[in-house]
Amino acid sequence: MKIAIIGAGVIGSATAWELLRQGKRVILLEGREGPGLLTSYANGGQLSYDYVAPLADPGVFQDLPKWLLNPGSPLRFRPQFSPRQWCWLMAFLRASNAATAKASTAALLQLSYLSRDTLHQWMSQDPIDFHYKANGKLIAYRSPHLLEKARKQVEYQARHGSQQRILNREQSIEIEPALANLGPALAGCVHTPTEEVGDCYLFTRGLYERVQAHPLATARCNARVVRLNTRQGRVVSAQLATGEAIEADQFVLANGLQGYDLLKQQGESIQLYGLKGYSLSIPLAAATDPNGAEPATSDLSVPAAPSISVTDYERRTVYARLGNILRIAAMVDIGDATNAIRPERIRHLKNEVRNAFPALDVDSAQEWAGERPATPEGRPVISRSRKLDNLWLNLGHGALGFTLACGSAVLLHALMSGGDTPVDATPFRVR
Ligand SMILES: Cc1cc2nc3c(=O)[nH]c(=O)nc-3n(C[C@H](O)[C@H](O)[C@H](O)COP(=O)(O)OP(=O)(O)OC[C@H]3O[C@@H](n4cnc5c(N)ncnc54)[C@H](O)[C@@H]3O)c2cc1C
Repeated sequence: MKIAIIGAGVIGSATAWELLRQGKRVILLEGREGPGLLTSYANGGQLSYDYVAPLADPGVFQDLPKWLLNPGSPLRFRPQFSPRQWCWLMAFLRASNAATAKASTAALLQLSYLSRDTLHQWMSQDPIDFHYKANGKLIAYRSPHLLEKARKQVEYQARHGSQQRILNREQSIEIEPALANLGPALAGCVHTPTEEVGDCYLFTRGLYERVQAHPLATARCNARVVRLNTRQGRVVSAQLATGEAIEADQFVLANGLQGYDLLKQQGESIQLYGLKGYSLSIPLAAATDPNGAEPATSDLSVPAAPSISVTDYERRTVYARLGNILRIAAMVDIGDATNAIRPERIRHLKNEVRNAFPALDVDSAQEWAGERPATPEGRPVISRSRKLDNLWLNLGHGALGFTLACGSAVLLHALMSGGDTPVDATPFRVR
């Protein structure tokens, strides 16, 4: 059986690797000059297994005016004259209720734990150097009220296997001394010792290279699929921009946001929309001292940059050390459908970072923007297509593609094989 996988971001590369591990023949087709160069390139680096709650929750209705009117809000909504945007938004608002949010969180937790176990297994057998660290995460709250609210989520998630605890200001600084930079504004943190970080691009490239070297696989870049050729309810080949047609027995769409267009050509529509975000990569060693000393604050006992993963909750900003860079990611812009870097948004992000960690050399940061391929409910689609019998979808991982990639690959393989699935696949069916 030969399986063609379209897209070599983190999802397509993980899917190809899992199918190879299960003895399938694979052809991996990537439209760009290399793997992982689109949304998987410079994301927040969080393997955020316990932070999977979807954006669609009942709080959305309260926050909507702020998203519309405040240009400095970490979440921005720019209305456009676009039926696709409005359909997505309506479905998003419909999903923004307590029951759906809870059900999605429970389903996503199962998938993320599967992902964590799978990543650990893969890396113990065949390690990839992607600046992986398993040293936990702190979600920092400035508002005591929000910290108290977080306690409820911690209690809910504990029923699904999460190991988290609430820390006061002093306990938080003991674990991550750089949090002293936040001053007395810091109310406390949620600490999750089991969280991990890594560089998604290096991971994707590492997987792609393993696929490329495997005797049962072919991996090709500059191989953009422009159409799926079909006959009698089945895909027979993937047509490349060059005119070449790639034949296979089964096909997997793992091309992120662009999966929408290939499906639409076949008359199949899924709710997939780009939620734009930004990142900064600050080189820590080179920032202040060519000999490699880390930047310091005026109080030398307070490090300038966090060592473990930190989320500044109210600013919706994540910080992760990836080798000798500090990756900072933030912002959800709905209705800005390009990868272009908007100067006012990146300026705003830099100011937030300067306020939180003043000794960081923000001006040396490499800037990046990407679009999270998001479904309204925040759950990916891991499923057979509704229209084409041998077409499978692994799309719509939104803000969690790195976190969910390995589990999604394992679940998809189980579905394709027709056997038992390791987690309930129903929440991830095409909708
Ligand atoms: C600012 C930001 C921060 C984020 N932080 C995190 C985080 O900390 N943790 C986390 O888990 N997730 C995070 N994410 C989300 C994560 O980056 C995405 O969910 C993930 O990268 C999606 O992977 P993908 O493989 O589906 O898509 P992509 O990475 O976009 O890959 C799709 C691939 O398909 C190729 N392609 C497209 N069309 C075709 C075609 N027709 N033919 C051939 N190839 C094609 C593209 O070139 C691309 O390489 C973040 C996202 C953003 C924007």
